[in-house]
Amino acid sequence: MLKTLLPKEFKPGGRDLKTAPARARKIFSTLLKTYPDARIALNFNSPLELFVATVLSAQCTDVRVNIVTKDLFKKYRKAADYAEVSQKELEQNIKSTGFFRNKAKNIRAACADIIEKFDGNVPDNLDDLTSLAGIGHKTANVILGNVYGVPGIACDTHVIRLSRLMGLSGNTDPVKLEFALMELIPKKDWTMFSHLLIFHGRRVCVARRPDCDNCPVRSHCCYGKLTQ
Ligand code: SF4
Repeated sequence: MLKTLLPKEFKPGGRDLKTAPARARKIFSTLLKTYPDARIALNFNSPLELFVATVLSAQCTDVRVNIVTKDLFKKYRKAADYAEVSQKELEQNIKSTGFFRNKAKNIRAACADIIEKFDGNVPDNLDDLTSLAGIGHKTANVILGNVYGVPGIACDTHVIRLSRLMGLSGNTDPVKLEFALMELIPKKDWTMFSHLLIFHGRRVCVARRPDCDNCPVRSHCCYGKLTQ
């Protein structure tokens, strides 16, 4: 029965959560040794570029986003460039990332606010960032952690899935999960913890068929131990 438990069926129980703080530290240190170069996969050279790339990355691969932003960032360099471009033109430029109408609308509206309320600079704190169109906690934490050095846990699809399988939290709501993980990991490591789970989720703990037999954190992972 347990051998056939599918990853999507697994839910951590109370005992799993009790041991979560100690296991989270082991998982962090093991993954850090495994992926010492873990970093964000999006290409950018400024807070504005990371903001745009992160908005485009919703429901799209980082590889595709990097292809699109290579030309986009040459064309539009300031928040004013995005605020002033027509909806139609921006849509054409980002079309291949999917959901391009909403993404173009949000980028233009957020850049208008960045100019009007923040002197043309992407804000460096959670409250101001999440006041911008299309920016939730995840995107805000990506920007804070990767350009401003402010630690944050960005709960993307990999972080949500792996946290549940590892038995670190049963929360699937990204903001609730963010706060739960913040209790388990020291603040200075929040940004790197997100990178590590994303790296691991792309290489070993892939959706639907996690490679538990070759996983370095199996002994600290609730799903991995159950299926041994
Ligand atoms: S043992 Fe590793 S691969 Fe398997 S579910 Fe846990 S983290 Fe994922």
